[in-house]
Amino acid sequence: MAIKPKCDRCKKELRKFGAILLSPPNKSNTVKKFHICVDCYHTFYFPNLRSR
Ligand SMILES: [Zn+2]
Repeated sequence: MAIKPKCDRCKKELRKFGAILLSPPNKSNTVKKFHICVDCYHTFYFPNLRSR
């Protein structure tokens, strides 16, 4: 199986797994799953600490 996830934030292809982000369930109890890359993960978690 060749899964090529893309970062849902910056749309770059993920070369290695970053993080998986789950949305809150909607009315039909469906949870959306987002893949985010390491860079975006860091901007989420440390918005004031940009690497580089
Ligand atoms: Zn990204």
